[in-house]
Amino acid sequence: MAKRDYYEVLGIGRDADEAELKKAYRRLAMKYHPDRNPDDQEAEEKFKEVSEAYEILSDARKRAAYDQYGHAGVDPGMGGGQGGSNFSDIFGDVFSDFFGGSRGGRGGAQRGSDLRYTLDLTLEEAVRGTSVTIRVPTLVECTECSGSGARKGTSPSTCTTCGGVGQVRMQQGFFSVQQTCPRCHGTGKMITDPCPACHGQGRIEEQKTLSVKVPAGVDTGDRIRLAGEGEAGSMGGPNGDLYVVINVREHPIFQRDGKHLYCDVPISFVEAALGGELEVPTLDGRVKLKIPEGTQTGKQFRLRNKGVTPVRGGGAGDLICRVVVETPVNLSSRQRELLEEFRNTLQSNSSHSPKASGWFDGVKRFFEDL
Ligand SMILES: [Zn+2]
Ligand SMILES: [Zn+2]
Repeated sequence: MAKRDYYEVLGIGRDADEAELKKAYRRLAMKYHPDRNPDDQEAEEKFKEVSEAYEILSDARKRAAYDQYGHAGVDPGMGGGQGGSNFSDIFGDVFSDFFGGSRGGRGGAQRGSDLRYTLDLTLEEAVRGTSVTIRVPTLVECTECSGSGARKGTSPSTCTTCGGVGQVRMQQGFFSVQQTCPRCHGTGKMITDPCPACHGQGRIEEQKTLSVKVPAGVDTGDRIRLAGEGEAGSMGGPNGDLYVVINVREHPIFQRDGKHLYCDVPISFVEAALGGELEVPTLDGRVKLKIPEGTQTGKQFRLRNKGVTPVRGGGAGDLICRVVVETPVNLSSRQRELLEEFRNTLQSNSSHSPKASGWFDGVKRFFEDL
């Protein structure tokens, strides 16, 4: 297909100045922009044609070559020589008032990825809050090329495969399928002379050190969002966010369930039988807990407001202490003697162990009913 004259494409005279040129391009590019003409191949072709014409005519050197030699004098998109490839700047300039400065969707600016960082905390840190310094591997904008990916002093040129659109049409039998341009991967740009620092990626991996303020009362699965601390965007897109996900480690004494804390307190059967005062641990130190005489194993004692104050507000939870009666082991012969003697005092009096006698009665009835 023979190329149309660039001036004709833009509908301007050969003596048109920069303002006229820009105005004509803006009008036509708006009309044929792929975002306004989804799945319209003709509009897309027109858009490419208009863009190419503008790219050549807006460059004084290329325009002069075109005026003298016609299409043979210029090779759009190759970006040979200086001044060849300020396409992105022009595009941004022309479209900034229409698309809010961003060319989302079709190639161009892309938001960086969100990152996730798992932060292990002790129960104490989670309950009281803390400040920690974390190091996260992330992609940051390459300072050498300011994120363009092109060697310092050069800039990316328009992709010759897709004409800067980022999409190409492939003919498959009767169907024409739109695909991301294989050459520029949808960015619409080609880097002919890549930046040596980032190998043309525009972003480099770096360990970023961040300080994170963890509020009091967080629990496993809670997330703290650090806006803009994720991966750098590409082609001028915004950064992603970093999500710090809390994981509270197991505690040797306390189990946590929401705002309540649980702990097992072993007591001797003598303490259980006689009652008395126990020292139990809380996150704020030891406190005394009175247990009545005849306390059974598994009995729970609730210490109000000794649990966790939730991060989302509300009153503090409780600490629930469960006593576990421990059977004495490694008895001396003297202790054995005392226990034998003690056992004799229990015989034939079921009132000392109501649960056991009730249970034996039940077993007896069960066999009689058979
Ligand atoms: Zn670079
Ligand atoms: Zn391309």
